[in-house]
Amino acid sequence: MSPTPLQILLVEDHAPLREQVAALLRGAGHRVAEASDGRLGLQQALADLPDVLVLDLGLPGLDGLQVCQRLRREAARHVPTLMLTARDALADKLAGFATGADDYLVKPFAPEELLARVAALARRPQAGQDFELQVGSLSIDRRAREAYRQGQRLALPPLAFQLLLLLAEAHPRALTRSELIHRLWDDDPPESDPLRSHLYQLRQQLDKPFSPPATPMLKTVHGIGFRLESDACKDG
Ligand code: CA
Repeated sequence: MSPTPLQILLVEDHAPLREQVAALLRGAGHRVAEASDGRLGLQQALADLPDVLVLDLGLPGLDGLQVCQRLRREAARHVPTLMLTARDALADKLAGFATGADDYLVKPFAPEELLARVAALARRPQAGQDFELQVGSLSIDRRAREAYRQGQRLALPPLAFQLLLLLAEAHPRALTRSELIHRLWDDDPPESDPLRSHLYQLRQQLDKPFSPPATPMLKTVHGIGFRLESDACKDG
């Protein structure tokens, strides 16, 4: 199956890698614009509003996090962003999620992995549309990185927010533990049961204040993983 051709902006200062990634994306049928520093990349992203932004973290001018932050603030709509990073420390990921990168890829990466992540970002229901995601009485504002249930703001730490966002994007489908772990930490989770504390924080904010009488939205699917269930009507 050949992928839908996408307009991609690639911001990477390391010329050999930029050329290699651009060639890879073009080879898959995508149209690719290139920028070699953060300032030019931001200008171009704001002007073009690409389908997907592939953004290096370490850049001259503005770094990837600053580009992401300003793009979230200034762009007319959500630009799905894949951050490339040589640094796979958890602290970098937290910072990246907080400033609004949608996904991460740690260098060096396999070519198929980059193509798959880019395609997945472009396929997300909200890609290139608006900033709001709604599941029952839950609404998520991607731009502000805020979530509300019944109009009440949920005080979620960055990883618990990211977990909720992944589940909301997958709704009504369940995500497996390993999918969630992979999306949050690539192949390098910080501990043996890394989801536990973030799921706990999410439940405390998303469900505890509302249920009962409202239905808990975060469901454990035994032997599979987790899913969100709408509290407005029956799913399915
Ligand atoms: Ca770089």
